[in-house]
Amino acid sequence: MRRTQQRIALFALPALVGGVLMTTAPAGADPAQPAGAAGSGRSHLEDSEAVRLVRIKLTGADMLDKVVAAGFDLEHGLRRVPTGIEGEAVVTAEQITELQAMGAEILGDDESFAWSEEADGGIQAARAQAVGTFSHSETVRVVRADWFTTKGQGFLYVEARTTDGQQTNPIVTMQLENDSGPDTSFGFARTMSRFVDSGQYMFHRNLFKLDARPNQIRVTSSTGGVTTGFVSNWLEDGAPPLTANPAYKWDFVDGYRTPQQLYSRAEEIARQYPDIAEIVYLPNKTNGYQRKAQATIGGTGQAAVVVSSAAWGHEGGNDITVEFVNRPGANLPLSVEVAGKAVRVLLAKDASGALASTAAQVAAALRAQSQGLIDRAHPYRTNAGTGIVQATSAPVALTDFLDEKRAGAPEGEVPRGPATIPVLRIGKHRDGRNPGVLIQAQDHAREWVPATTSLEAAERLVHNYKSDWETKKIVDNTDVFLILSNNPDGANYSFYNFASQRRNLTNHCADDNADPARRNSWGVDLNRNYRVGSGHDGYAGGSTSCVSDTFQGPEKLSEPESKNIVWLVEKYRNIKFMMSVHSNGGQLFWQPGAYIANGRITTPRPPLGDEAFYWQSAGRILSQVKAYRETVVTPENVGGSSDVLYSSAGNVREDLYHNYGIYAFGWEVGGSIYNPATGNWQGGSFQPAWVGNPELVSGHSETMEYANGIMEMFRIAAEWGKDNKKPTSKLVPSAGKSSGSVDVRFETSEPATIYYTTDRSRPTLESPRYQATEFREPGQVFHVTETTTFNWFSVDSAGNIEQNYDPTKNDTRNNYRTATAHR
Ligand SMILES: [Zn+2]
Repeated sequence: MRRTQQRIALFALPALVGGVLMTTAPAGADPAQPAGAAGSGRSHLEDSEAVRLVRIKLTGADMLDKVVAAGFDLEHGLRRVPTGIEGEAVVTAEQITELQAMGAEILGDDESFAWSEEADGGIQAARAQAVGTFSHSETVRVVRADWFTTKGQGFLYVEARTTDGQQTNPIVTMQLENDSGPDTSFGFARTMSRFVDSGQYMFHRNLFKLDARPNQIRVTSSTGGVTTGFVSNWLEDGAPPLTANPAYKWDFVDGYRTPQQLYSRAEEIARQYPDIAEIVYLPNKTNGYQRKAQATIGGTGQAAVVVSSAAWGHEGGNDITVEFVNRPGANLPLSVEVAGKAVRVLLAKDASGALASTAAQVAAALRAQSQGLIDRAHPYRTNAGTGIVQATSAPVALTDFLDEKRAGAPEGEVPRGPATIPVLRIGKHRDGRNPGVLIQAQDHAREWVPATTSLEAAERLVHNYKSDWETKKIVDNTDVFLILSNNPDGANYSFYNFASQRRNLTNHCADDNADPARRNSWGVDLNRNYRVGSGHDGYAGGSTSCVSDTFQGPEKLSEPESKNIVWLVEKYRNIKFMMSVHSNGGQLFWQPGAYIANGRITTPRPPLGDEAFYWQSAGRILSQVKAYRETVVTPENVGGSSDVLYSSAGNVREDLYHNYGIYAFGWEVGGSIYNPATGNWQGGSFQPAWVGNPELVSGHSETMEYANGIMEMFRIAAEWGKDNKKPTSKLVPSAGKSSGSVDVRFETSEPATIYYTTDRSRPTLESPRYQATEFREPGQVFHVTETTTFNWFSVDSAGNIEQNYDPTKNDTRNNYRTATAHR
């Protein structure tokens, strides 16, 4: 089946600028068989198709991959639920039918998944149903057990694995129990949910409310595996935010900002604070807030001709008129007359005096004979253009459709044409000596809160530099690069034309998708346009369709906006941290962010030291977010993005981490927040009302709380740059027991990666790396069955090596670590 309309957006209705997000086509309009409108002016053929917001449920990652491959955008606000994946989608009626045909379920208002709050007795009941036997002794491990509180409510979140998790006949069930504090007994048995992604067992998990913090949990599998684990705090022990200091200045941004407003404020900051700020202009201009002037003329279906100007609309295309003329007489040839910007197509007539030019013939005549005014003319979509073209009643004016200002759009003219993107650089020493932090906001046009969040962070830096010693430390010890909007063309389109625009404005479509009714479906998803884990190399989550909201572009780095990021990190090699700021999902990500679906082969996982550093940094950043109004980003939403959400092929984070060694975070600000009034977690929106409900969905509150998190990221970078403390490590007996062996594992004093040998050779950076047992778990346990000598060294996240050992050359001191595990 051929797709006819593939755009789907994921968002909630913005309240600030009105709800006019979608233009509508007349009821019953079939885009493949356009009706009517051979007359003058603009026909409904140019209206983009009617869309509405629906909640959908997919059975799992396999279906999600298919849906994304078919061109539907499910990037944001998605929620993994035990029975599948839920999300919101903006779709046409035709697309709803298509989604249902793919197996998606359309949910009613109250049909979203909610974790059960009742203990269900665990596996006692399930065990009675379990049939079949397991061929080997199975083990169970606790991956994480986190306690957190928000808005007066406690929660326990648990992930646990069974080594038989992949087995499906029968499926192993897992039961979770918790105590009620130290020296209390286990109880409250409940069944855990099995989490499977792209056909691969991930782990079992549970999230539920609890009034008292448990001390330990116990996990039991239906095949007899059992283990216990201690409960950790999640975001419970954060330091007070900078905003707690009464002298600290904050709350600078008082509403949403267009790209022009963001850029002019950035330039103003550089002028006002020249000792600590400057502008770096990115070298590649965008492809522009500009479009060709167009119309669909001449009739319906096979008779329709799609006409596009050679010049951009604002450069003369909008002045062109096209008229299809029925002359009196018979046996007349098809010809084209041009007078100024008026194009007249004199339609052919047959011997009986009837019109006789087909759409294909008229299109060819326009391309050849319009004196360069029309360089693209073709039949409608996939039609061959065999229909006889009808005359127009008057000249049809071509338009780029950019002058149709959306109701509620901000005042002010939008500059047409390519834009130059400024980077606001803030730092006392902007000479490469300090670690650089790149904050990149609004790759996705409709995400307005990331831009205000980044601007608020910039304002806090410059306004508090002289008066707040913590801010002074940041500015003196980091080199901050802020891209307040990396997609100005798309963002303008979102502000002024189509609120749910996600991509940039570049139209890469061939004739079958180039008619103006497709104009809200063009553009490249900039966060699918990078080089590592790319859809061009078979990774999942990027689309090859030019009208998909996850269109990855015709090639890697095809877009100026993505080329600019590569230019920036190659010019400023001191950039060691990056935050790609998106909305709205309530998630904090890093690598891996993409996989090949068949076999679920991810991009390389960060070594254990980087993984630990990411988790430690995430805890600090999210604690500062929480400090504002107790918003908790839950641990299930933190980690490798392909583990906690899904594969996003060719995203910027993979490129910057794997090519440049930059700690590259991805952030979904806004989104899920606990509402104590309803007892439920509530989703967010791309463009929430600026004030809204300050305790729930509010652009202002999200800007303030996530700016806290960005400030903490700066602080992490400043400390990282000053870190010259060498890590220490040791080989310790493991808590686990196995018969006939001694179990040992490594411990480090801080996030650090260990390289080790067991053949008494000198450890180097090529030696085996100490690994996690499995992803999201601590380091592996060695089952030592004969006496073994370990030689090793550890490297921390800042590159400090334990005992100053030099693994790159024959260090005659040989001051690596060594220990022997005796059987
Ligand atoms: Zn985004």
